[in-house]
Amino acid sequence: MSELNLILLGPPGAGKGTQADRLREDFGLPHISAGDMLRAQVTDGTELGLKAKGYMDAGKLVPDEVIIGMIIDRVSGTDGRDGFLLDGFPRNEDQADALSEALKRLERRLTAVLLIEVPDEEIVRRLAGRRVCVKNPSHIYHVDFDPPKHEGVCDQDGARLEQRKDDTEETIRNRLAVYHEQTEPLVGYYERVGLLRRFDGQRSADEVHAHIRAALATLRLEENL
Ligand SMILES: [Zn+2]
Repeated sequence: MSELNLILLGPPGAGKGTQADRLREDFGLPHISAGDMLRAQVTDGTELGLKAKGYMDAGKLVPDEVIIGMIIDRVSGTDGRDGFLLDGFPRNEDQADALSEALKRLERRLTAVLLIEVPDEEIVRRLAGRRVCVKNPSHIYHVDFDPPKHEGVCDQDGARLEQRKDDTEETIRNRLAVYHEQTEPLVGYYERVGLLRRFDGQRSADEVHAHIRAALATLRLEENL
């Protein structure tokens, strides 16, 4: 079986996490979320984690090579042997170059970059409508798509529902602006090298998942010809 070395790309709220969970179930690929990985290594006090912490404590950005070191450690471990699903990195072209170089040294390369596209207005609607239970954050509602029986009250425990700071329209628009400015150029970058595959994130999670599976099956067929 050929490797599946994948990157997930798309704006916040596009459903990348959902698709990552499904692909992990399908193919047993480790889901490497750059932000989670960084936080976990800092907490665990690994060598790279301590290095990262040094920069963070000094109020500096963690350098790309530290993050890439963490990714490469994970990818070269046993669970990353058949491939991986990387999310949240790279975020710009320099990081993409550095990642390709690091993979090349392992004699590996990316299989595909999966872009989940959703228009800004839809993202704002999805995220700004989210309401979370103050008592249990796993109780999540949406004012349009999944409203509680009584406005502002959790169906399960009667606690108050609130809009998280991250979910306000202003915060979402700021995150989208950062995405368009910094990360979107990666779409062209990966398109030029023939790795980009586009998916319509306005479809249901099931449909997006089916389309991704079909695209990966085609890629594998092409590789084995
Ligand atoms: Zn609740």
